[in-house]
Amino acid sequence: MILEAKKCHNCQSEQIVRNGHNSCGQQRYKCKNCGVTRVLDSVQKSKQIDLEQVFQTYKERNSIRSTGRIFGVSPATIQKWLKKSPIFSQL
Ligand SMILES: [Zn+2]
Repeated sequence: MILEAKKCHNCQSEQIVRNGHNSCGQQRYKCKNCGVTRVLDSVQKSKQIDLEQVFQTYKERNSIRSTGRIFGVSPATIQKWLKKSPIFSQL
């Protein structure tokens, strides 16, 4: 059995203990040094989406819904990105 050393993301201490699971069933860890609890190896996959491409697609008269379908994210996510973007103030 190979044990890989896990380190606290906050203080880089190796004194961490398992501390239950989160709502997704992932192992949570607690740092004995600083007391922070978190999932250390999150399996959440972030999609690599070029936001400029999203904005361009939206500017070409596509709806928020269709832009979401094109990039495989929800319309709410597209709306969130558009609100953060500088082009939103121009629309
Ligand atoms: Zn720590």
